[in-house]
Amino acid sequence: MFALPETQLRRPGASAGRSFSIVTLGCAKNRSDSEGMQSLLEQRGMSECTDPAAADVVIVNTCGFLGAARDESVGVVQEFVDIKKPGQFVIAAGCMPALGDYRNDLPAGIDSILTTREWFKIGETVGSLFGEPVLPESAGCDGLTTTFTHTHAGPSAYVKIADGCDHACAFCTIPTIKGGQTSKRPLHILQETIDLVARGTKEIVFVSQDTIRYGSDLGVKNGLPELMTSVATQVPNLPWLRVLYIYPNPNVLKMIDAMAEHDTLLNYIDMPLQHAAPSVLRRMLRPSDRKLTARLLDHARKTLDDCVLRTTLITGFPGETDEEFGELLRFIETEEFDHVGVFTYSPEPGTVAFGLGDPVPAELAEERRGMIMEAQQAISYRKNQDRIGRTMTVLIEAVGESEDVEGNIEPVSVGRTWQNAPEVDGLVFLPGELPIGAMVDATIVDASEYDLWAEPVVAE
Ligand code: SF4
Repeated sequence: MFALPETQLRRPGASAGRSFSIVTLGCAKNRSDSEGMQSLLEQRGMSECTDPAAADVVIVNTCGFLGAARDESVGVVQEFVDIKKPGQFVIAAGCMPALGDYRNDLPAGIDSILTTREWFKIGETVGSLFGEPVLPESAGCDGLTTTFTHTHAGPSAYVKIADGCDHACAFCTIPTIKGGQTSKRPLHILQETIDLVARGTKEIVFVSQDTIRYGSDLGVKNGLPELMTSVATQVPNLPWLRVLYIYPNPNVLKMIDAMAEHDTLLNYIDMPLQHAAPSVLRRMLRPSDRKLTARLLDHARKTLDDCVLRTTLITGFPGETDEEFGELLRFIETEEFDHVGVFTYSPEPGTVAFGLGDPVPAELAEERRGMIMEAQQAISYRKNQDRIGRTMTVLIEAVGESEDVEGNIEPVSVGRTWQNAPEVDGLVFLPGELPIGAMVDATIVDASEYDLWAEPVVAE
C-alpha cells in the first residue's frame, strides 16, 4: 500500500496551541495588517508570544517603501533566520516581498513569503507549515474584505480604511507595492470602530495611502466625509476620530465642513504636500496649483476652531535649485504649520524620478532638511508656548518614572492632546500615575518646541 512520507501527512489543526510572534516594521497600515494577522492566527487557537525568539512562528511584516527601510527589513529577517531553532518557522510578510526586484534580497532560510496584499492568507500559510491540509480558507477574500477583531484595543487604534493608490508620484514605490486604491466597505469600518470603542479605545485613527479618495473605487463621490459623519453619528461614545494622509484635492473642503459639524471629528488636517515650488511639484507629478493649496488651508483656518495643520516635505528632489528650495522655506515660514515632517529624497529604482538626472548631493539635501526643521522648531516652540495656561483634555497612553533635579524618582504619565497625532507629534507629561486610557483635563504649565507639561485639573 502506498504510504505518504510523514511530512506529507496532513494533520488538521496542527497549528492550534502553537505560538507566534509578529514583528512589525514600517507604517500604520502595516500595523493594521499585523493586527489582522494576529486576529486570524488566534482564531486558529494559536497564541501570541512576546519573545519572537521563543515563538514557534516568527512573522516579520516588512517595509519596502525606501532603500533604508528595505535594508532594515532584510536585517531583521536575517536576525531571526540566524537564530532559528529546529521546528521554528520564519515568514517574511509585508511590502518587501511585493517588490519583485527585491524579493530575492530576502535571506535564504525563510520558510514562507506573504506579500502585503496577501496578509489575510496567514492562517493557511502557517497551517501548511505545520502540515495541515491546505484549505484555501481565504478564497474570494482580499485584505479589505477580511474583517477581524483587533486583538489590542488600547487607548488609540489605527483602522485601515483603504489600501493602494491611484496616483503616480514620481518618487513613490507604493503603487508598485500595493496596486491601485481599494476601499474597505463602510459597514466593515463601522463594525471595526464600534468593536474597538466597546473595548475601551478612545481614539480611532483612519489610515490609508490616499485617505481623501476613500470610496472612489466603490463609486462614492465624497466617501470620506460621509464615512466620518456616519462614525460621528453612529458611534456617539467615541471621543476622537482622526484621519491621516490627506492628498491635496478639492474634496478636502467637504471633509473640513464635516469636521466643523461634529466634535468627534478632530480639527486635525494631515496633508503631505511634499514641496511648495510648482516647478518641483510638476516634476514630482503632484498637484502644483498653489492657489488650491492656499484655498484648502484658508478654508480650514476659517471653518475650524483651533485647527491643527500637519504636512510632510521632501528636500533634495532631483533638480531642486536654491531658488526652488528658497520657495519651500518661505512657504513654511509663512504658512506656520503646527507639525512638519521633512525627509531627504531617496532614489528608488522603478520610480519615474529614478530616471531623472541632475541629482542634489545628499549633504545639500540634508542641509536643506535641517534648515526647514530649524525654521519649524521656532514656529512650533512659539505655538506651544501660547498653549501654556490652557486647560486641555489629555489621553493617557503610558506611565513611567522621571528623576527630578534632586535625584528623586517620581511617577509620570504620558499622553497626547487631540492636537498631537500618535507616533509622529509631541507628547504631554503629567505628574503622577494616571490610568492608561483615561482622558484627563489638565492645565498646560510648560512647553518645549515639541512637548508639553501639564497638571491634572483637580475636581472641586
Ligand atoms: S499619493 Fe502618496 S502613496 Fe500615492 S503615489 Fe503619491 S506619495 Fe505614493
